[in-house]
Amino acid sequence: MTDTAELKRLSGAHHWHPFTDHQELAALGGPRIITHAEGVWLTDSTGARILDAMAGLWCVNVGYGRRELADAAYRQLTDLSFYHGFFKTTTEPTVRLAAKLAELTPPGLSRAFFANSGSEANDTIVRMARHYWALKGKPEKRVFIGREHGYHGTTMAATSLNGMKVMHEQGGLPLPGFAHVMAPYPFEGQGEMSAEAFGRLAARAVEEKILAIGPENVAAFIGEPVQGAGGVIIPPDSYWPEINRICKEHDILLIADEVICGFGRLGHWFGSQRYGIQPDFMTLAKGITSGYIPLSAVMVGDRVANTLIQEGGEFYHGFTYSGHPVACAVALANLEVIEREGLVDRARTDIGPYLRDKLEEVLDGHPIVGEIRSEGMIGAIEIVKDRKTRQRFPGGGKVGLMARDHCFHNNLIMRGIRDSLVYAPALTMTKGEADEVARLAKLALDLTA
Ligand code: PLP
Repeated sequence: MTDTAELKRLSGAHHWHPFTDHQELAALGGPRIITHAEGVWLTDSTGARILDAMAGLWCVNVGYGRRELADAAYRQLTDLSFYHGFFKTTTEPTVRLAAKLAELTPPGLSRAFFANSGSEANDTIVRMARHYWALKGKPEKRVFIGREHGYHGTTMAATSLNGMKVMHEQGGLPLPGFAHVMAPYPFEGQGEMSAEAFGRLAARAVEEKILAIGPENVAAFIGEPVQGAGGVIIPPDSYWPEINRICKEHDILLIADEVICGFGRLGHWFGSQRYGIQPDFMTLAKGITSGYIPLSAVMVGDRVANTLIQEGGEFYHGFTYSGHPVACAVALANLEVIEREGLVDRARTDIGPYLRDKLEEVLDGHPIVGEIRSEGMIGAIEIVKDRKTRQRFPGGGKVGLMARDHCFHNNLIMRGIRDSLVYAPALTMTKGEADEVARLAKLALDLTA
């Protein structure tokens, strides 16, 4: 039997939680201790069952407790618990996963560089892109352009790519050589414009920034196909084609950060396929193993890979656990489940639209719901004080957190981001469970109103 009180005491004294206000946590009486999970359900140390509509942290795409993934880890741990890819060795699951990722991602992304987290993968891209331009005789092309509300991780370079002021304020960031532009956030910026026109306007802001900095100084533009941690910001369809054009015209590398969007989340294997993005780099993590074990990858486009490999000699970069065989074996088992169960199509044509329709039905006319938007199995409920005028609640973007807390106390996990309540459940969620998400979300919004 778990000693909840003892664990809370130890946590309060010794565990520094990521992204947590510890005073607030102490006032709540400490963290909930999660002891078990199956499908989309968590169990805590008091025996309460919690419906997880966030797939952990947007990552458990195949649901919790999958035997196939545990078996793959066990087999690999007993056969070969660790060996690395430095110098002149590798392992079978590492190679097989690299080849599988090259097959699944859009043509031209033929090489995978492995790391452990999305942050490390994005850091890797920053070094690779600058090195690429140096090899091309253009070492001054060093600036990266990200977007407001963009989230790319927490290393120094990844935080600099982020468009989050609160993060920049801690640690004196961004580093030199990182700039930001507006997000393609229709609910905030579209006004009377058509969605198409707004998408083009947001893309043109990237072009204006490139011209202001000088294309000869810009290395790359980075964006999540749908911005996740920034509030599930879904761009109009006109946005990404225009970004493709702009990057080509000004000779800027394009980075698609697919850490959340990849592996079926948007109802396609990758968000780049949904939006026709033509990236030079793709960042992968989270759904690559459904969060069962840490792993990330950078898919590198042929023009960059060929230059670095043929002209660059050794690239002095790598992590002890780059391509860890156990993580790669789990990833392969995870991809097999996604393929066998048709989870990508399920997200696009079945459970994704079902959950969206159910939320629309249950929240129809709700006084504080300004918009429900979704793509595949990710979505957001935009909260407003007045649904007609779209006036916000006072407090500068805290109402999402209030709604999230009401969910939490009623055993539903959703995420509160500024003025929205966000969801991204496992792609395996049943329709009955989707009904329950909608029922509890309504309850939370009723309590917030
Ligand atoms: N990129 C995106 C789009 C993310 O959503 C995240 C994490 O949420 C990251 C990068 C960072 O990944 P990690 O937390 O594994 O470092």
